[in-house]
Amino acid sequence: MSVRNDSLYLDIIENCADAVVVVDADQSITYVNKSAMAMFGHSNKAVVGKSLNILIPERVRDGHRSLTDSFRNSSEPSRYMQNREVSIQGLRANGSEFPVNVSILKSGGDSNTSLVAIIRDVTEQKKLEEDLKQLASTDPLTGILNRRTFLPRAEEEYVRAKRYGRPMSFAMIDIDFFKAINDTYGHAAGDQAICHVVDVISSGLRKPDILCRWGGEEFALILTETDEKSALITTQRLRRSVQDSPLLLDTVGETLVQMTVSIGFGGVQSIEDSLDDLFERVDQALYTAKNTGRNKVCAIGEIPLDVIEVA
Ligand code: GH3
Ligand code: MG
Ligand code: MG
Repeated sequence: MSVRNDSLYLDIIENCADAVVVVDADQSITYVNKSAMAMFGHSNKAVVGKSLNILIPERVRDGHRSLTDSFRNSSEPSRYMQNREVSIQGLRANGSEFPVNVSILKSGGDSNTSLVAIIRDVTEQKKLEEDLKQLASTDPLTGILNRRTFLPRAEEEYVRAKRYGRPMSFAMIDIDFFKAINDTYGHAAGDQAICHVVDVISSGLRKPDILCRWGGEEFALILTETDEKSALITTQRLRRSVQDSPLLLDTVGETLVQMTVSIGFGGVQSIEDSLDDLFERVDQALYTAKNTGRNKVCAIGEIPLDVIEVA
């Protein structure tokens, strides 16, 4: 490399947007570029000569050390460091952490190998990924899971319940005469009514239960670790709480809109075949609830509904 090229490369490294950090064989920092100083919030003086650990959160230092050792002892000239489970974190001078992408490469002879890390701050990218994940998995109106995300979760729960002989119940919930709310108060009030029912139902569930907007004004619910008898109590309670929690619409004066839901439900114990089979029979139970008066809970099994009256 000519002298002219040396200074050209130095200029490039010194001024590139990614952080560049060089460590010697003892993991002591020998060089940081401007971006590294800005990214980690350290001055040149504060880091050169110090251990690389100054830039790494304490809890991952050992893991990081074994990764770099394995790279040092390998025949690879460079490696893109990654962990599919968790993002790699950098440590700023002020103690805060941030996600980074890191490429490392070797420079120099065997006995005196320096490692060069090229580090990119991916805080914005990670945030965007999280936002996208959230957008793709939830229903934009209510914020609960959408059907696409719910179905694999439901299948997972179903397989687990079947394999370990654990109870699990599934319910479909549909708002009664919802079209009348739209027709009477308008679509925006209808949207508010859907959100209201979701709030009321959600507040009556346990953390492990999984609620989804199946579509329109219909919701699917997985009650984990819940046999049919308990599912009856829960769904009756949910039905009752919607009935007893009218929506206050302030867009059309102060109007109280009473709503009710019909619910079909069933437990995995009653089903031999598949989750689809359970869905289908729960849907039929919901249909029965609709056709026999609404504001009602119907089971797929043989449980007589008048056995347990919920106050
Ligand atoms: P049933 O008691 O038999 O369930 O009658 P229903 O009126 O509730 O059911 P129907 O299926 O006849 O009407 C559902 C209505 O829900 C029709 C559709 O326009 C409305 N709807 C679906 N999604 C939304 C939504 O996101 N917002 C609003 N405001 N309305 C919706
Ligand atoms: Mg309806
Ligand atoms: Mg419907």
